Amino acid sequence: MSKILLVDDDKIVLKVLSKLISKKIRLSTEQAKSFKELKSLLSRNSFLLAICDYHLPDAEHGEAIDFLIENKVPTIVLTASYDERIREKILEKNVIDYLVKGIPNIAEHIIYTISRALRNRKSKVLVIDDSKTDRTLMKKILEDMLFQVFEAGKGSEALEILEKNPDIKLIVLDYFLPEEDTVELIYSIREKFRKEEVGIVVVSGIIKTNMIPILLKAGANDFISKPFSKEEFMVRINNTIEMLNIIQELEFYAFRDPLTGLRNRRYFFEEAPKLWKNAQRSKSNLACIVIDIDDFKKINDSYGHDIGDEVLKDFAKHLRSFFRRKNDLIARTGGEEFTLLIGYEDKERLLEYLERFRKYIEENVLRVFKNSEELDVKYTISMGVELELKDSLKEMLISSDRKLYESKNKGKNCITF
Ligand code: GH3
Ligand code: MG
Ligand code: MG
Repeated sequence: MSKILLVDDDKIVLKVLSKLISKKIRLSTEQAKSFKELKSLLSRNSFLLAICDYHLPDAEHGEAIDFLIENKVPTIVLTASYDERIREKILEKNVIDYLVKGIPNIAEHIIYTISRALRNRKSKVLVIDDSKTDRTLMKKILEDMLFQVFEAGKGSEALEILEKNPDIKLIVLDYFLPEEDTVELIYSIREKFRKEEVGIVVVSGIIKTNMIPILLKAGANDFISKPFSKEEFMVRINNTIEMLNIIQELEFYAFRDPLTGLRNRRYFFEEAPKLWKNAQRSKSNLACIVIDIDDFKKINDSYGHDIGDEVLKDFAKHLRSFFRRKNDLIARTGGEEFTLLIGYEDKERLLEYLERFRKYIEENVLRVFKNSEELDVKYTISMGVELELKDSLKEMLISSDRKLYESKNKGKNCITF
């Protein structure tokens, strides 16, 4: 089910697309050069989605598209040129999108469209409209775009659905809801979800022009006037989702180290004071642990910087699997230095656990490939551990650093507490 079906009578198109999809999306493909081959493939397999040429020698008028849709295969259509009549015809069908082969960077567009469709499959959208007809119409388009769609006829219903599905990514909201104030409804949604978390697109027919800025200022992300074409609706929805994705990605990496996926230094220094204060208030134990990879420079020098990066990623993976409690703060605070701020009950048990981790890393073998040669890389770590909740976080950090330095002086691969 995780395969993509490519249908085109041009062998070069099939070859290029299949290579690109495997490289960029890591999915395998099956290929059909004609409507006949398509039918035979579909009788034996099921597909995630299809990329299909509108015009095939044995299906000149989009019959292959109809066949795919009838068989419930989400389809992206390729056309040879921009033709208004064909475009209309394609849009009437329930396809994900269509792309014109002649446009610059078409391959990139196709990859982008596939990735977006695959991402949409995991995204939830809520349609709020009192008119069942309009709701069904919008739901249908959104489902063609592969979204999981929820519907609500009024504001209170919508808020309930949002409560149960906090992962809803986008709301399509009809401006006119009987006996309801849409601006108020937007405010209620915005109390719980930021503009960057859940997008709101308002849809409406007759509206006073000065209402648009009011809606946008209240927290709507975009506005679509009725009547709208299916294509405009799709493009607007895609734009809003795209904007959310970009912001969410930026936010994700603002506080994370892109190499290891761990929290970064900035996040550590934003969160650590809160943990320290909590521990002070509740008089609970808090340990500050600094871990540094031993002779990391040698690893870089003997195997290369890229293998050094692999070691960092490998270490981060083990660190994450050993320290997985929700309230533990784990960050990459330097090149090959990591800082942990963790609560504990029993001093001895924590130290035993840290020793177990040190030993685990000592015995761990990382298998890497360098110039198609297999290499087994081993590395060790040193730790500095401050177990006492000092009068300031800074003191704890300085003390654990000093203890790390002692570990290094003692010959590395050990713990000082
Ligand atoms: P010690 O045992 O005393 O900690 O020695 P060391 O070699 O591990 O420590 P040193 O501080 O001398 O060198 C750390 C090296 O880590 C230097 C730097 O180039 C390298 N480094 C820092 N960040 C990265 C990174 O993201 N990737 C790689 N590959 N190397 C990095
Ligand atoms: Mg080091
Ligand atoms: Mg260092």
